[in-house]
Amino acid sequence: MGRRLGVMGGTFDPIHHGHLLTAEEAAVQFGLHQVIFVPTGRPWMKADREVTPAEHRYLMTVIATASNPRFTVSRIEIDRPGPTYTVDTLRALREQHPDAELFFVTGADAMLEIFHWKDPEELFALAHFIAATRPGYDLAHFEAEAPTAHPKVTVMNIPALAISSTDIRQRVREGRPIRYLLPEGVKSYIEKEGLYR
Ligand code: ATP
Ligand code: MG
Repeated sequence: MGRRLGVMGGTFDPIHHGHLLTAEEAAVQFGLHQVIFVPTGRPWMKADREVTPAEHRYLMTVIATASNPRFTVSRIEIDRPGPTYTVDTLRALREQHPDAELFFVTGADAMLEIFHWKDPEELFALAHFIAATRPGYDLAHFEAEAPTAHPKVTVMNIPALAISSTDIRQRVREGRPIRYLLPEGVKSYIEKEGLYR
């Protein structure tokens, strides 16, 4: 049997416990051997705001995932020039791991957007999709139609963490605490590099 590989895409600006919990729950609930975190290069759907340089986001992702033997980080999107499309990433991972079964892990908000992504049909041909519950986003409507319309999307219930990178950036800007929302090492990195001020 081939390996079951999770792919956790995100801007990770910064990575936080919501991302880590989602990836860990996916690994446990779906028996994934490994979860590859893939920080985006230039996310096309976030063209309206300034995204932190990819190297910072990559390093914070490495720091956050280092202690988990099942987690790895890929530079595939940040080393690729031009805008980031998940379909290109999945195609490349498919080639790198021809025998593996791919599981693309997202939160509810990202899954609701997926149908506006480039080539949704090809996406579903390349991977299974796991949509994690996330506070503030309702998957009920999606869940009702998903089994027939999108047999390759599975909703995954996880403990609710109302944490977002947007809120963390705002907290740093306002001098409010971020401890316990993300790993201590990532907090230190943010302070050391003066990010989000
Ligand atoms: P931003 O506020 O900048 O959009 P974010 O917190 O949404 O940041 P992203 O990097 O955009 O983080 O998200 C990457 C993936 O992680 C997405 O699929 C998103 O749905 C999922 N995710 C992020 N936070 C959570 C959370 N608290 N619970 C469940 N899924 C989450
Ligand atoms: Mg987001």
